[in-house]
Amino acid sequence: MMIFLWRFLLVLLLTALTQIGGLAYLVSFGLVRLAGGRKGVATFCVFLVVYAGATVLTRSVAPLFGRVPLSCGQADMPLAVRSPLFCALNRNYVTPAMKTAAIALARHMETTYPGTVTLALDANFPFFRGFPLLPHLSHNDGRKLDVAFYYRAPDGEPLNGVTRSPLGYFAFEEPQPGDVLPCAGRHDLLSFRWDLDVLQPMFERLPLDEAQTAAAVSWLSTLGTDLGVEKIFIEPHLARRLGVGDDAIRFQGCRAARHDDHIHFQVRP
Ligand SMILES: [Zn+2]
Repeated sequence: MMIFLWRFLLVLLLTALTQIGGLAYLVSFGLVRLAGGRKGVATFCVFLVVYAGATVLTRSVAPLFGRVPLSCGQADMPLAVRSPLFCALNRNYVTPAMKTAAIALARHMETTYPGTVTLALDANFPFFRGFPLLPHLSHNDGRKLDVAFYYRAPDGEPLNGVTRSPLGYFAFEEPQPGDVLPCAGRHDLLSFRWDLDVLQPMFERLPLDEAQTAAAVSWLSTLGTDLGVEKIFIEPHLARRLGVGDDAIRFQGCRAARHDDHIHFQVRP
């Protein structure tokens, strides 16, 4: 009974992390049993092969479902995925319209600040409307994408391809005294707004490149709207600090993740 429960939880976890991983595990489990094998190590090895094959195949199949991958490892592009892990976990899929908007944003940044590479973070899974990419509940239709902030070295030099945390998330820009804090004093039980105080000292202290980050948000809320951008999320205190304001720049609410560690935007259907 315990082993069944463990396998069930593993399928759930793999599905939540990668969408196709749970199915790949079940196929691997079946193949090993059909071959008369019983060892967990054999299932693990077969799983790695099946999962890798399914991940490669997904790149060709996903366009039939209206999603295309953002490229991991394509050189000479102003848009890069922050870590190969996002691609290995199938978290790099968007609609063609979102891919066009993201590349246009990156090209604008590269033109305005020569040499700049814009970093994509979590996007969406390859299949099915309504299947959320946890912990981002809204990343469920291919129309949402997170991009990293831009940073400078402690000596003020612009940095490229660098974020304060390894995956580009959770290294928060803390509010300044006097900032309006719409979530202050709330203690929602069901919330993805995690402060993660214990992690903060572990992240590199790099100054936010306010000019570049503001330029990206401004482009999304102006020229980006011509390419379908309709909503951008950053924390209100950061919008004030960056000097950006537009109807398209919104606060995501107190139960969604904090948006003072990355920019979230979405395109119209
Ligand atoms: Zn997001």
